[in-house]
Parts: sequence; C-alpha cells; structure tokens
Amino acid sequence: MSSSFEKALKTLENKIPEYIKKVGRFQYKNQAFRLVDHYIASEYKRCDICGHRPIKEVFVIQDSRGNTLNVGNICINKITNQKIAQWFKDIHNRIETLKNNEYAIGTCELLLNQKLVFISAIGRKRLRTMLKRMLDGRKPTQKQVKLLIYYAHKYNDALRARRTTHGNHI
Ligand SMILES: [Zn+2]
Repeated sequence: MSSSFEKALKTLENKIPEYIKKVGRFQYKNQAFRLVDHYIASEYKRCDICGHRPIKEVFVIQDSRGNTLNVGNICINKITNQKIAQWFKDIHNRIETLKNNEYAIGTCELLLNQKLVFISAIGRKRLRTMLKRMLDGRKPTQKQVKLLIYYAHKYNDALRARRTTHGNHI
C-alpha cells in the first residue's frame, strides 16, 4: 500500500493532464488549437507566437493537422484568454511544497497513530487539520509547526524514557 504522501503526490500530479484536457480548443489565427503539453525548458526555446527568447516554460499547442507551436507563459494566457500560466505555477508550487513536507507529514501521521503520548481531542483535531493542509500541497502555519514540534519532542522523550526503563530491567 502506498503512503498518504505518495497518494497526495499522485493526486496533484494527475491534475496536470486533467487540466490540459480541460483547457479545450481555442482559436489562434483562425485555426483551432489545443494545449497538449507543458514543460520547463532544459534547452534554448523561443516563443513561436511573439518570438521572445529564451522561454523557461514551454506550453505546446497543436492544431487539427498536428502542427505544434511552442508558446511562452505570457502568450499562452493571451491566446487562450485563460490564466493558464498561473494555474501551472500554482500546481508546481503545491507539488514542491508537498515534497518539502514529506517528513512533517510522516511525523504528523505517526503522532496520530501512536498511544505512547496522550494527545487531547483538540490536539488531534489540530494535527489532522495540519495533515490535511500539507497533503493538499499547502504550507502549514507557524502555529501548526510549533504544535507538531511540541508533540514530536514529547513523543521522543517518552520513547527515550521507555528505553531507559527497559534497560534497567536487564
Ligand atoms: Zn510569446
């Protein structure tokens, strides 16, 4: 079974092809185009609409005959009249944030599933809220981070205490 982190990552990543489909057809120079791909350019690319170069982000659009054009982030918004570049920026930020929080997500889940340290109903509720937020690719608040650290310390202390107790029996 995959972890909730992996599931959340898949969910966010799957939003990209869904969104590309959802953009649908649009007209450019009396031709029907659709968005077919988006990637960060690893080589020198030029926007086929305005000629600007280099473009870091490439939106690939295709007409009905299969001809493709590489489009930069400003032109893609203009020709589709949709805030496409912003959507991609947001989803990539969320994926990045989710990845940065992998460890905190694991800690949060561990705390919610353990019985070594008592966590009040309110504390559990707050941890679940924090977990949901992080799995959604959003940064936890400072207050949430503080709470997580507080319980994580308590848990580590309890673990250490238990080890010491066990040690005394030997
Ligand atoms: Zn352009």
